[in-house]
Amino acid sequence: MPKELIRDKLELPENAKKLLLHSCCAPCSGELIEGLSASGINYTIFFYNPNIHPLEEYEIRKNENIRFAQKMNVPFVDADYDTSNWFDRVKGLESEPERGERCSACFDIRLERTALYAYEHDFKVIVSSLGISRWKDMDQVNRCGTRAAGRYEGMVYWTYNWRKNGGSARMYEISKREEFYQQEYCGCVYSLRNIYATTK
Ligand code: SF4
Repeated sequence: MPKELIRDKLELPENAKKLLLHSCCAPCSGELIEGLSASGINYTIFFYNPNIHPLEEYEIRKNENIRFAQKMNVPFVDADYDTSNWFDRVKGLESEPERGERCSACFDIRLERTALYAYEHDFKVIVSSLGISRWKDMDQVNRCGTRAAGRYEGMVYWTYNWRKNGGSARMYEISKREEFYQQEYCGCVYSLRNIYATTK
């Protein structure tokens, strides 16, 4: 196996016994899922992404994630698709560029819900696949995750750098091998609008 495809054994922070993984989609979470499983970590996938537009796209992305979770035998929590909550929170930020304030609000919404579920189900550590993509600002994701976990005493957002030590290469490799649906925009209606604008 090429060196970059061999991964380190992962260990949860704080000697935690289990992890709640917020997944944004199968292509991004594939490397996290395989790495966590290979390391023998007890974890659950939490799918809360009301940013994804339209509904058909949401269903495709979610079902790809369920397919891989079932293959890997990992519990999958299918959370709400409460788009009105998402639109309320990003109101006034529609014209923000990607990596700007709208994206911070978008991460906040998704990670706050993840932290709430973690609190209700006794998870002390949460993480998200959002930070592995090179299209995202990892520090921005980490700040939002840390803020969300900080709402509950003793909860931690795991700021592991999933891109390092070959993580990005494995992410693409897994996506190709599993023939995941390839997304052409980040997810929300505004990112969809941007690809239309650039392809005109
Ligand atoms: S571009 Fe992506 S991260 Fe930013 S608001 Fe839209 S869906 Fe959320």
